[in-house]
Amino acid sequence: MSIVLIVAELQPSGQLRKATLNAVTAGRQLAEKTGGELHLAVLGANPAPVAEELRGFGARAIHTVGGLSQYVAEPYTAALSQLVQSVKADYVGMAATAVGRDLLPRVAGRLRAAMASEVMGYEGSGADVQFQRPMWAGAVIATVKLTTALKVLSFRGTEFPMAEPTGGASEVKAFTASIPASKTAFVDFKEVKSARPNLTEARVVVSGGRGTKGDFKEVEALADLLNGAVGASRAVVDAGWVPNDYQVGQTGKVVAPTLYVAAGISGAIQHLAGMKGSKTIVAINKDGDAPIFQVADYGLVADLFKALPELRESLAKLKG
Ligand SMILES: Cc1cc2nc3c(=O)[nH]c(=O)nc-3n(C[C@H](O)[C@H](O)[C@H](O)COP(=O)(O)OP(=O)(O)OC[C@H]3O[C@@H](n4cnc5c(N)ncnc54)[C@H](O)[C@@H]3O)c2cc1C
Repeated sequence: MSIVLIVAELQPSGQLRKATLNAVTAGRQLAEKTGGELHLAVLGANPAPVAEELRGFGARAIHTVGGLSQYVAEPYTAALSQLVQSVKADYVGMAATAVGRDLLPRVAGRLRAAMASEVMGYEGSGADVQFQRPMWAGAVIATVKLTTALKVLSFRGTEFPMAEPTGGASEVKAFTASIPASKTAFVDFKEVKSARPNLTEARVVVSGGRGTKGDFKEVEALADLLNGAVGASRAVVDAGWVPNDYQVGQTGKVVAPTLYVAAGISGAIQHLAGMKGSKTIVAINKDGDAPIFQVADYGLVADLFKALPELRESLAKLKG
């Protein structure tokens, strides 16, 4: 019986990061494919409330490791590596968030395990299960096989639906890790305060590209009307017009909202890599040949400075 250990991620506030629920689905599917059982791990300063929240998700056990600060690579790597060995996990995985991308390769290195990153799905079953992952900005989907006993996986959240509770009450087990003195220490966290939803968790994302010439007023106004998040292409971020954490794409955030509006974005493959999984894509671009129209469900060949206010006014009327 294989053991699939999925690591929950906590926000700086101590709450569960929602991307964890996508990873729980990935873990459930893997447990089914490999005839294994799902375990969860919660590491942090105070893991108990999140462990309690996760008890109804059908895991065989939830392992907590307390006494840690906010995420810092060294102590978390030590703690998770020890937990993986103690649980005798065959698979360890978490969402491919900034923390997941930082932590998992270190754990894989420390435990000499093979790793597949940004896993999107599985092929085969049992011990021979293989992993599908994107390459070249998603232009190619590779299938990879990991040949070590322990396999480390980060999951692309947009490819797995958020897990729903299944009932039951998993057993919570406290694990005491021996955490060595760290060369880095958590000091302070200054959160960027925004009334808008988190880009990777928003139901609606309105993104602007170079076509905005740095004027994001209309992009922001439409996002606010739809209670959405604001995104951007890399060209806009590189120009310093908006903060880095707005960037959607291969080297930015991967989003899959219900509605993605791309205004003044050409649709370079690296941008598409971050948003083409969105349910409905609306593109506004004054160039009818822009590649963004190839992935758009609704395309408007128009000047965004004219179209966005018109769209906002019509939507405001509809909303009453
Ligand atoms: C290794 C690598 C990683 C990368 N990672 C990313 C990434 O993560 N995310 C990302 O976005 N890019 C990424 N890029 C950059 C990517 O290749 C493109 O350069 C970038 O996405 C272009 O941004 P853009 O569409 O805003 O600008 P442009 O390509 O310049 O397009 C601007 C568009 O706006 C339209 N337009 C102009 N004025 C108006 C108007 N008034 N109304 C309507 N439309 C108008 C134009 O017709 C044009 O289509 C990466 C590149 C590399 C090499």
